[in-house]
Amino acid sequence: RAAADLPLLAGLNPEQRAAVTLPPEHALILAGAGSGKTRVLTTRIAWLLQTGQVSPGGVLAVTFTNKAAKEMLTRLTAMLPLNARGMWIGTFHGLCNRFLRAHYKLAHLPQAFQILDTQDQLSAIKRLCKQFQVDEERFPPKQLQWFISGCKEDGLRPPDVEVRDAESRKKVEIYQLYEDQCQREGVVDFGELMLRSYELLRDNDAVREHYRRRFRHILIDEFQDTNKLQYAWIKMIAGLPGEGSHSAILAVGDDDQSIYAFRGARVGNMADFVREFSVQHQIKLEQNYRSHSNILDSANALISHNQRRLGKNLRTDAGAGEPVRVVEAPSDFAEAEWVVDELRQLVKGEGYERKEIAVLYRSNAQSRVIETQLFNAGVPYRVYGGLRFFERAEIKHALAYLRLLENPRDDTSFLRVVNFPPRGIGARTLEQLQDAARAAGTSLVDAVGSLPGRAGANLGAFVAKVDVLREQTAGCTLREIIEQMLESSGLIEHYRADREGADRIENLEELASAAESFVTQEGFGRDAVALPVDETAELTQSPASQGLDPDAPLLNEPLPAPPLPVDADTGETLSPLAAFLTHAALEAGDNQAQAGQDAVQLMSVHASKGLEFDAVFITGLEEGLFPHENSLSDHDGLEEERRLMYVAITRARRRLYLSHAQTRMLHGQTRYHIKSRFLEELPEDALKWITPRRSGFADMPASFSIAGGARPAWGNSGIHSNFSAPAALPARKTEPSHGIAAGQQVFHNKFGEGKVLSVQGEGDDARAQVSFGRHGVKWLALAVAKLTVVE
Ligand code: ATP
Ligand code: MG
Repeated sequence: RAAADLPLLAGLNPEQRAAVTLPPEHALILAGAGSGKTRVLTTRIAWLLQTGQVSPGGVLAVTFTNKAAKEMLTRLTAMLPLNARGMWIGTFHGLCNRFLRAHYKLAHLPQAFQILDTQDQLSAIKRLCKQFQVDEERFPPKQLQWFISGCKEDGLRPPDVEVRDAESRKKVEIYQLYEDQCQREGVVDFGELMLRSYELLRDNDAVREHYRRRFRHILIDEFQDTNKLQYAWIKMIAGLPGEGSHSAILAVGDDDQSIYAFRGARVGNMADFVREFSVQHQIKLEQNYRSHSNILDSANALISHNQRRLGKNLRTDAGAGEPVRVVEAPSDFAEAEWVVDELRQLVKGEGYERKEIAVLYRSNAQSRVIETQLFNAGVPYRVYGGLRFFERAEIKHALAYLRLLENPRDDTSFLRVVNFPPRGIGARTLEQLQDAARAAGTSLVDAVGSLPGRAGANLGAFVAKVDVLREQTAGCTLREIIEQMLESSGLIEHYRADREGADRIENLEELASAAESFVTQEGFGRDAVALPVDETAELTQSPASQGLDPDAPLLNEPLPAPPLPVDADTGETLSPLAAFLTHAALEAGDNQAQAGQDAVQLMSVHASKGLEFDAVFITGLEEGLFPHENSLSDHDGLEEERRLMYVAITRARRRLYLSHAQTRMLHGQTRYHIKSRFLEELPEDALKWITPRRSGFADMPASFSIAGGARPAWGNSGIHSNFSAPAALPARKTEPSHGIAAGQQVFHNKFGEGKVLSVQGEGDDARAQVSFGRHGVKWLALAVAKLTVVE
């Protein structure tokens, strides 16, 4: 059948179709919001696979969020039967993590390296500052964090950073100390994931050549928001023309939606890409399929106030639709009340689904007052961004205990829970311990023995407690490990005694469910540890087979679990616990949608990029808030705010509300605001100014405040509802796999004799947990590890 007749292509317009069926050469799609860029990207992958031009293993696709990556995989598997295992689809961080897990030795990392999220990173820096007596007035830890991340994003290691004066010398010194500390503890931060995989590709010819041969097609969504290092990484993995490269890059983006300049994104990457890769195909898409024209006209009028633009057009055939509704509220409280009233009306009176309604705001701090209203009204909602499940204090405490089970030398986790729940270990003791560890060049746990007296005994008791727990939970399922940890750590008991602890206990219990569904549904978390076993083994094999994988699973089967990375020498592999911890770290940076529950979506405008909803509320349209006050004095900053507003408007399909409040509580003060200039920049005939229905509306005290109040109790309408417990617990497998079964005594070439504690999975995925005495408990891939049964 001629490629052009494929049903995949039906329903695309001629420009989209041309983009999908481009020859395997570099291309850039530059087009406005809602013009089908992401759809073209996904369809192109499907088309390439279906026409046999590439195998799933030959595709590398970068999306902006984990959510987008999952959506893409789901869409692809709906279009074609295919083996999703070999597909590299994910965020830059997710892909780099996968890459480093595959090559952990070359990357000089422990196999089970843990990921520091932004909070962990900050506390690691604070700890360092204390330890080395850095003057925190002169060098605030937050600024140091910014500095370190900035250096990494520019690809600079400490020796590469230009030192201009005493101050920058000191900063670089701290950067170096921080790096040493991370390396010692076996942890990496987000920037490190990216930088280290870039360096590995740069410095290792065989690995680089392997990936260059492998990835025939590299597709990147939201290209306008890539930073310098990400673009360098793309160049490294694709190879520039003339470097004997075989890959074709498809970059899609919209300069008007570039909203991460403040974090180092470079729109200039688009022009560089066209030049450096001699891009032959530049495609424009001008038809918007998302929004009615009142909405689109508003977006177009707004963005025309920006001077620095590449210039694009956008039209729609959808008709004018409803006017854009604008409302003024006396206070932020009243605004929130109005939003909640209105969206209930949308759901009850007009048949909107809750998950098709988004409430957007410029700063995460704005969400609280809206959340309170939603909670009081009993409207299910879900917050993206802000404090995410895995970032909540109680969850982080629990994860710290789990991390210590995996790696007792994880000093960040050690310090987090050594005295939590409180067990009489004071700040002074911890200082002594840190000094001792530093003097001996060891981790904290190794220095415990050197402390005398009661302090030493208390610390010793803590370490013993963790050790005992580790022994007790060997051979247990992830859920069992978590439950036992919650009890014996004293966390549950601690929160039980706390009057406000009920929610926290609920969250902790939710953690066990999250782990459970991670194992059963996610198959160890696709984005966390997905990897074809022993990536480098392919170096010596023939080029990837062409066409679809004949062993691909049938349509609608759940996606198969990707195999865990395996050490080719010993067969050692990640424990489910280590895999789960990685998942928790990556997931914390990017919330994923829950299955099924119909909840209103709350998120910052930044987080809404790429998404679409039937109805959208953009709240807080006030000078100083949106546009943000930091941008007001700066032309570029103001243009970025306007692009942000453009992103917000173009999320709406049918209905759009814009609201502002005369007064607002922010950071503990009531502030008086005038309405945003962006409202003035919209075409008057597309707007309708409405007055709220409520009569008592204007009576609301302007200074009403919920500051100081607790966030609402989440109940079952709250933030973590995506972690539903699976219907049935899987029975632990006891039948032998590869002739190995729990209870047996076995022999391993490197680790010697050991006892099999449990066996999971089948065939190539089978893993055994074996206790090897001196070598401790290991997880082994049975297909690789050569175990022999000893009587
Ligand atoms: P953004 O810039 O916001 O990321 P986008 O350019 O990636 O937007 P998509 O999200 O791919 O746009 O598409 C917007 C909407 O239009 C989606 O619902 C998509 O399914 C729909 N769409 C795209 N192309 C067509 C088409 N040819 N016919 C009908 N609907 C289309
Ligand atoms: Mg898109």
